[in-house]
Amino acid sequence: RLKEGELLRRKLHNTIQELKGNIRVFCRVRPLLQEDEQCDAEPPVVLYPTSTELLGRGVELFQSQGPRYSFTFDKVFSPEAGQEEVFSEISQLIQSALDGYKVCIFAYGQTGSGKTHTMLGNPDLPDERGVIPRSLEQIFKSSQEFRSKGWSFRLQASMLEIYNETIRDLLSVTKCSNTDGVSAKQYVVKHDQNGNTFVSDLTLIDVTNWKEVSSLLRRAAQSRSVGKTALNEQSSRSHCVFTLRISGINASTEQEVQGVLNLIDLAGSERLSRSGSTGDRLKETQAINKSLSSLGDVIVAIANKDQHIPYRNSKLTYLLQPCLGGDSKTLMFVNISPDSKSLHESLCSLRFAAKVNACEIGVPRRHTSTHL
Ligand code: ADP
Ligand code: MG
Repeated sequence: RLKEGELLRRKLHNTIQELKGNIRVFCRVRPLLQEDEQCDAEPPVVLYPTSTELLGRGVELFQSQGPRYSFTFDKVFSPEAGQEEVFSEISQLIQSALDGYKVCIFAYGQTGSGKTHTMLGNPDLPDERGVIPRSLEQIFKSSQEFRSKGWSFRLQASMLEIYNETIRDLLSVTKCSNTDGVSAKQYVVKHDQNGNTFVSDLTLIDVTNWKEVSSLLRRAAQSRSVGKTALNEQSSRSHCVFTLRISGINASTEQEVQGVLNLIDLAGSERLSRSGSTGDRLKETQAINKSLSSLGDVIVAIANKDQHIPYRNSKLTYLLQPCLGGDSKTLMFVNISPDSKSLHESLCSLRFAAKVNACEIGVPRRHTSTHL
């Protein structure tokens, strides 16, 4: 039986969800790293919290000379927030995938801002585990608990990478055949008659416990690093999509649920300079810009309840189409580096996230140095 506090928490959570719709944005500011401090004479540019509101706290970007910006999100995590604290804010969202919802969680931000730390963390260190290991652990535990109520679940994992609008299966056991590390196989996104998407020939693996997932993550990491040497840090220039398909059936009530959990580590959002890019590099830059802006366009169109949602503009949104919009649930982490050299990129990320959050975009308030 649920404790009263837990019931209240759920009720509040549901009310907030109704008020907000199904798209939420959390901002996570990572701590200053030693590398930042060494090459950074300026103090960190992100100050918080600036306000406490029902739906979250504000984050303020501060520049000693120039404009001040403030942004409000559903939740802002300060650098002190550990992996457990972050997960505690999303565990109900994860749970809803077991209830049959389609859930997408994205990490958006420039390279080095903490996306992989947030989504994956260090799966081998209990305190450092990120969203993927913690979610899986919770789903395994809950699905076990539901057994006593007659439920049995089938959980299938897949992992893919989208690089230059091309899909690569990260769990495929067949070795990459090209010298550039990209599998020769063509993976195609297909929509079936039930409105679900699948990727032709993509490896789907049944998982029942953490050990199995851990070995899949290792396989995927290995598969990514093969490409990395050949493709020049490909991992920061590709989207990595972890998907868990959940099918549950209750033997006594004959109820069925079909949930999907997508956990996505997006390509670095930094503006890669176009001027210097030619050939492959230019193609890469264009592909990243296109898919990240398409993702933003899709989420904004959903939030605005537009008639036409431009899912087809990128492989990522086309793949995730059934899990974006409708009654599915979307959460975007916007990861921020606090150092002053990242100010420009941080502002770009925050503006993107504010647009996605469909909330008032931080209006710069002019401050002259005399006011400081
Ligand atoms: P990205 O995936 O966005 O390129 P990473 O997740 O690899 O960035 O983070 C860059 C570095 O910062 C890594 O060394 C990571 O361990 C560290 N880091 C990121 N976020 C945090 C955090 N919240 N706490 C501690 N270290 C972090
Ligand atoms: Mg990363």
